[in-house]
Amino acid sequence: MAKNSNRDEFPASVIRRLRERVANRCSRDECGVSTIGPGSGPQDVVIQGVGAHIHAASPNGPRADSGMTPEQRRSFDNGIWLCQSCASLIDKDATRYPAALLRAWKMRREAEALLEINRWPGVGEGQRQMVAALSGYPGATAWPPIVPNAHRAVQIALERLDPRVRVQTSYINGRERIDLSAREDFAFSFLVPPARAASWKSSLNQVVTHGTAAFDLGGVSVKGSRLIEHMLSNAVTLEISRPETAAVMRLELEHEAQPCWFFAQLDGQMSGGSALATYRGSALEGMLTLGMDVSLTGGTRTGGNSLHTKDQRVRD
Ligand SMILES: [Zn+2]
Repeated sequence: MAKNSNRDEFPASVIRRLRERVANRCSRDECGVSTIGPGSGPQDVVIQGVGAHIHAASPNGPRADSGMTPEQRRSFDNGIWLCQSCASLIDKDATRYPAALLRAWKMRREAEALLEINRWPGVGEGQRQMVAALSGYPGATAWPPIVPNAHRAVQIALERLDPRVRVQTSYINGRERIDLSAREDFAFSFLVPPARAASWKSSLNQVVTHGTAAFDLGGVSVKGSRLIEHMLSNAVTLEISRPETAAVMRLELEHEAQPCWFFAQLDGQMSGGSALATYRGSALEGMLTLGMDVSLTGGTRTGGNSLHTKDQRVRD
């Protein structure tokens, strides 16, 4: 910076405080780059930032305030620590970067620096380092969003393969679950080798009649969706099911005195096809569960019915 007798330059102590209170980072919101690091000599330190004036150091400079005294111009309150390029940016366009904005940057960067030194007080350093190592995410306060961030990253990566499909990921009971739903009608095809044609035909019939079936993917390829192709690339079988619908069932017990004695209402899910429907439900907070396969062609119940009650223990 050229020396100018009209300029009220900051004393070295002010410049150092401006820099240290933002932990050596550029204060501009969109930047935040570190301004300190090793120099070319084995023990050299290079500081690349600037203690910039919020209101100009001279009467005609950017954001100049004629009402300020020289002391006020060179005071800590009138300074902001910036990297070289942000310092030049704010002085080239003072209208775009008014004093109030620069003060807000300074306040936020100082607050951020304060949070950084207060992270993980005392305990948990090992856990912080482990999380940082596993996630590549150095900030320990970033720990809570890691799981949603990982899900979001997988969703974005998969949706890029086929933007017509909405991807939802979840982790339930120790298993990764990926749900795909179409944003619009779209077609893709399975190329089934002749040897598997009969088994695929029978599985397709089963989806229609029973609502669910497994398909053998050996030798089968997919055309028309990079996402489906990717999802099935390592799969051995594909299970196709009709979506379940919520269903409520009333369980009634016959009693000689009261022929229709209401017993319990079960909340559950109904699924199935044209020939067979399956119901799974529970009541009394899971103490009573009912599983039932219903034949829709003959009107009679087929095998697979079950009614369970959980063991009860009296709690103190
Ligand atoms: Zn910067």
